[in-house]
This record gives sequence, structure tokens and C-alpha cells, in this order.
Amino acid sequence: MNYESELKVAVEAVRKACGLCVRVQSSLVSEETVKKKDDSPVTVADFGAQAVICRELMKSFPDIPIVAEEDSSELKSEGGKALTARILEFAAEVFPGIDEEGLVAAIDAGDYGGGAGGTFWTLDPIDGTKGFLRGEQYAVALALIENGRVVLGVLGCPNLPLDLKQPDGGKGCILTAVKGGGASMRPLDHNTPKRIAVSDIEDTKLAPFCESVESAHSSHGDSARVAGLLGVKAPPIRIDSQCKYAVIARGDASIYLRLPTKKDYVEKIWDHAAGSIIVEEAGGIVTDAYGKTLDFSLGRTLSGNKGIVATNGLIHEKVISAVSEVLGSGTK
Ligand code: AMP
Ligand code: MG
Repeated sequence: MNYESELKVAVEAVRKACGLCVRVQSSLVSEETVKKKDDSPVTVADFGAQAVICRELMKSFPDIPIVAEEDSSELKSEGGKALTARILEFAAEVFPGIDEEGLVAAIDAGDYGGGAGGTFWTLDPIDGTKGFLRGEQYAVALALIENGRVVLGVLGCPNLPLDLKQPDGGKGCILTAVKGGGASMRPLDHNTPKRIAVSDIEDTKLAPFCESVESAHSSHGDSARVAGLLGVKAPPIRIDSQCKYAVIARGDASIYLRLPTKKDYVEKIWDHAAGSIIVEEAGGIVTDAYGKTLDFSLGRTLSGNKGIVATNGLIHEKVISAVSEVLGSGTK
């Protein structure tokens, strides 16, 4: 299968959701709105983006269920009225006339449990909410999973420079991949995809690595120890969200380390499905921190895995050995 129609719809849906996020970010970000928890811009954009994408997917593929991060319980709670009104304002720019019922139905379409059989979408409407709040990197991440394997991924990165070496050049891109069909990138406002590929670095000393900005999401101490073992010279590139997978897929960095900070944290499928297929189709390898294949067949979480390591493929084994040395044999 070439997933042509799924890819077309997914790209358009992600593009519309990115537009909504950009509008929310530019119109609402101020000290006051950021601090107010109930209708902070990130909450408005999170729900708005999920509603837009689920509605588009339901329209084109009514029989494919969706595993998405958010649900409407917060909108229905006391005090949810103001938030709902705010989300509707932005959603109506994409779907004129959308009402509360339509909004809630679209958001709650994302309540599927996932699993080993059949086909479903998985969506993170805003991955990297902390980055969104700081005005830095975040991603809209959508993937299609078939019989437990990711077959298509779309990553919208509204703030990511097209070229990391030219941070003041153009920014905003969509990365895509289809199983067996390679990975591509296009600017957010164009439809001319260009092939992307991972770096060809074989010497780990020359391999730049990236990790979360938030040390609560990935252990900076452990990654510094891994980098030390590998002789990596450059300081870590810290980026929020699945934009880390994007920079590996484009060859800007060669190693992505996500090393556990908590014993009981379980990664979510929507945080890795789109990014992982994009890196793999760009020629890289993605496993967990112990070298295990990511298992997307276990429901809404990656309960069979711990941490993430993504590389250009050429240095994967060396990186996994260094990570094992730092983490020990799987106790974290
Ligand atoms: P990042 O921007 O890469 O730091 O990751 C953002 C994602 O981290 C969010 O979507 C959360 O689902 C996820 N997250 C939250 N807590 C943790 C944790 N303790 N360890 C790893 N990931 C986490
Ligand atoms: Mg996320």
C-alpha cells in the first residue's frame, strides 16, 4: 500500500492544526494568560489542534479510530465554559459554524485504546507544551499504526528552522514518512516535499547529540556520561518535543537520547510514533534505551520499553553499549 490518500489528509490536517497553534501563540501569549491555568494558550491550542485533526480524520476516514492525548473532561468541568468559548473561537476559523457539541465530539473521537490488531491513528496535538509556552519548539504529531506497526508519520514543527545552522532563516516545516517510501520535509506553507536523510557520521566523537530541554523528561546527567564514553565533543542540542526526531532525520544531529528519570514512567505512543518512522525512513534506527524495538501494539503506552535512543543507524550499537554501561542492566 502506498497510503497516498492517508498521507494527503494527514498533512493537510496537521497543517491546519499548526496554523491554529501559531495563531493562538501569537494572540494569547502574555504573562497573564500563561499563568492562568484554566484557559492558558497551551490548553486552548492543545484542545483546538486535537479537534481540528480529529474532525478532518473523521470526515475522510470515519472507520479508523484515533488514539489521542486529550479528552473533553476539562471542558465539561466547572469553569470549563470560558475555555470552551476560547477554543471555539479558534476552531471556527478552521471550521466555520462549529458548535460546542461538534467540538466535544471531535476531541473525544481520540479516546480509542489502541492495541495489536487493526488500523488506528495516534495523535499528540501539541507535543512539547513547555516549549510552546516558552515560544520555542513544539510539534503536532500524527501517525497511522497498522497491526501494531507505524506505517505513516507526519510531524508539524511550526518553529523549527528549515536549516538548523541558519536559525534566522525560514522556519516552520512538515516532515513526513511512509513505510518503505523514505522521509521528506516541506516548508509549512508549501507542498513541495524534499527527501531527507540522516547524517553519515561513523565516528561518535563527531556526532552531535540532542535531548529534552526538560531534565525531568530525560536525565541530563546520564546523557552527559554517555556522551563522555562516546567521546562526543559538542555540547548537547536541547530541543523540546519530537522536533528531536526531526533533527536526527535531517542529519543536524546524529544521536537522540531520552534516558529515564523515573522508574515508573511509561512513554506514550503519540510521543514517538510519528517521529520514529520519520527517523527510520530517513535511514536511522530507533530503539528503547536498552536496544529493544519500540512496541506500539500494547495500547496507549509503550509499556514494553524504557527510554528512547535514536541514531543515524551507523553508530547505534556503540551508543546502546554506552547507554547500557551508564544505566546498568535495566533496573531503571
Ligand atoms: P520533551 O519535549 O521531549 O521533553 O517531551 C515532552 C513529552 O514528555 C510530553 O509529551 C510528555 O508526555 C512526556 N513526559 C512527561 N513526563 C515525562 C517523564 N518523566 N519522562 C519522560 N517523558 C515525560
Ligand atoms: Mg507529548
